[in-house]
Amino acid sequence: MLVPDIKYLNIVYFNIMKKFLLLITFLLSSGHAVVNAQSTEVINKKGYRLTIINQDPEFSKAEIAKLVKTFFEVYPKLEKEYNSKTSEEVTFIIDTAYDGVAETGGGRVTFSSKYMTKHPADIDVVTHEVMHIIQDYGDGAGPGWLTEGIADYARFKFGVDNKGAGWQLPDYKPSQNYDNAYRITARFLVWIEKKLKPDLVKSFDEQLRSHTFTDESWKKETGKTVDELWVSYSAHPQI
Ligand SMILES: [Zn+2]
Repeated sequence: MLVPDIKYLNIVYFNIMKKFLLLITFLLSSGHAVVNAQSTEVINKKGYRLTIINQDPEFSKAEIAKLVKTFFEVYPKLEKEYNSKTSEEVTFIIDTAYDGVAETGGGRVTFSSKYMTKHPADIDVVTHEVMHIIQDYGDGAGPGWLTEGIADYARFKFGVDNKGAGWQLPDYKPSQNYDNAYRITARFLVWIEKKLKPDLVKSFDEQLRSHTFTDESWKKETGKTVDELWVSYSAHPQI
C-alpha cells in the first residue's frame, strides 16, 4: 500500500504544482498588464481640451485634480499675456518610467509620477511646463538658458502656490551668472524689469518666437549688453 500511495501522492503533488505554476504565470502576466495599464481622461473646458494619460494606477486622484485645476487657472493667463496663438489642445502624461521632474514638447507635458508623488505640493511644475507650450520658440530661436529663465519667471509671476512648494527665487550669490538658467536667470529678468525695462520678458518672448532675438536685443531694450547688465545686477541685486 505504501508504494502506490506515494506514487499517487506524487501525481497529486505534480498536479498541484502544475496548477500553482499556471497560477503564478497568470498572476505575473496579469500583474504585467496592470503595470502597463493607463487611463485616459479628456476635459473640455473654456475652449481648451486637456487630455490626461495616467500610466500610474497608484497616482493620487487628488493630485491629478490639482494638476488639472492649475492648468485651467494658469494657461489662459499665460496665453493672454504672451501668445494668443498657442495650442488649445494640451496633453498631460503621468509617466511611471520618466526619471526627471517634467518635460514638455509638442503640446505634451510629461510628469514623473515618482517625483509628483514625492512632491505633491510642487504644483507649479505645471506653470513652468505649460509656459514652454506658450513659448513655442522652435529650434535656434535663442539661448536655452533664456528659455528656461523665462519659464521660471512665468512660474514666479503666475504660479498658484510657489510658497506652498517652498519655491522662491534664490538670493544673488557671486558664484552665479546670468546663463545659469532657471531661477537664477528668472531673478535677473525680474531685476531688469524693476530697474530698467518693464515688460522686457514680453518683448523677449515675442522676439524669440519670431526668431528675431539676437545678442543685441539686450542693448536695444535696456541700453546695456547682457554682461554690463549682470555687472550692475551684481553690484545692487535687490529686487
Ligand atoms: Zn523648462
